[in-house]
Amino acid sequence: MRVAVAGAGLGGLCLAQGLRGAGVEVDVYERDPAITARFQGYRLVLNPVGLAALRDCLPDRWHALLDEVVSDAYVERLVLDSQLNKIGELGPARHGTVVDRHVLRHLLLTGLTVHTGAALTGYDVLGDGRVEARFAHRDPATADLLVGADGVGSAVRSALSPRTTPTDTGVRFVIGRTPLTEEFAGLSRAYGGKIAGNGVSLLLGATRFRTPPKEAAEKLAPEVTLPDIRDYVRWAMILPPDGSLGDLTPQEAALARMPGWHPDVRALVEQADPDNSTLLSIRVVQPGERWAPGPVTLLGDAIHATSPTGGNGANTALRDADLLRRCLIEAAEGRRNLLDAVGDYERQMFTYGAEAVRHSLDALPAIAGPA
Ligand SMILES: Cc1cc2nc3c(=O)[nH]c(=O)nc-3n(C[C@H](O)[C@H](O)[C@H](O)COP(=O)(O)OP(=O)(O)OC[C@H]3O[C@@H](n4cnc5c(N)ncnc54)[C@H](O)[C@@H]3O)c2cc1C
Repeated sequence: MRVAVAGAGLGGLCLAQGLRGAGVEVDVYERDPAITARFQGYRLVLNPVGLAALRDCLPDRWHALLDEVVSDAYVERLVLDSQLNKIGELGPARHGTVVDRHVLRHLLLTGLTVHTGAALTGYDVLGDGRVEARFAHRDPATADLLVGADGVGSAVRSALSPRTTPTDTGVRFVIGRTPLTEEFAGLSRAYGGKIAGNGVSLLLGATRFRTPPKEAAEKLAPEVTLPDIRDYVRWAMILPPDGSLGDLTPQEAALARMPGWHPDVRALVEQADPDNSTLLSIRVVQPGERWAPGPVTLLGDAIHATSPTGGNGANTALRDADLLRRCLIEAAEGRRNLLDAVGDYERQMFTYGAEAVRHSLDALPAIAGPA
């Protein structure tokens, strides 16, 4: 069996790793000209389902490395005013496993065949039941299954399910990253919650590595090269509905919304790494229309894009990857036919994927709204 995956995000790479481990031939096609072509390094909190799915797709020999580059987080989810006084709570305290997306992507890329600069533009189902994927700047590729793991703007989805389209929630946010130093020790009670003032919400979260990722890889799995990054605080400012940056950089726009805020909070944004600060919009995709199982399917944000406020998009993409991996291995081993395997995956994924999107939208008002 040969699988073509469009999109080298977390979901596509996790699936490809899992299939590679089972001896299934898999190629990944990524639109970006290079893996590090744009800002990708934000912090993710994995839940037990997402973490277990990820582990199951990785070779056993990398589990110790994974454990070394994540950390356990327990956060109280407080709502603080701009002077860091408690004024409420977002909900009950939460546990989770913190991982950096950039680090995780590098781990997942190891050993895979990834073609960069390969933007999928469409596909044709061939007479023999296989599929031919077309790309903007390279020759077509033929596979038994094409998996669209190409994110919220998925080109594969546009062809497979044209009526399933992204909805813009209208919510915009500026996200940035600042090295975690002693200077910010006083901000720890804000982690996992929000600071509210001047019509904006600022969300903070700390990423601490048990061992710096590059060192951990050199020690535990020399065949893996991980980025040389250190502990940091991720901050995200949700802008008011009319939020635009004008001529300001994302970092300047965030600071302009924080007049008179506690000096430690302002310092955090002032000291952010400009290369890792950007403006993002929240778009969701709700899986609705089903299609007959065939040689093309979807996973992750391509079919169920959640609002990041739900904290479940990556978890759900990893769950998809693991479920599809297991279904495809049964097909590769001749225990079921490919279309049954794909249909079984899609039936389960549609149910929990739709629930994940609903949950993330339910969480949006408390996080994006006024205190
Ligand atoms: C700030 C922020 C914080 C978040 N925090 C969390 C969290 O704590 N927990 C959590 O579970 N989720 C979180 N999420 C959501 C999570 O990051 C996403 O749901 C997840 O990364 C989706 O993975 P994916 O592989 O489906 O898609 P993506 O990561 O979007 O990857 C899609 C890939 O496809 C490529 N691509 C696009 N079009 C094409 C094409 N035509 N051809 C080829 N390649 C293409 C893209 O370049 C990209 O590399 C967060 C998201 C954001 C923005």
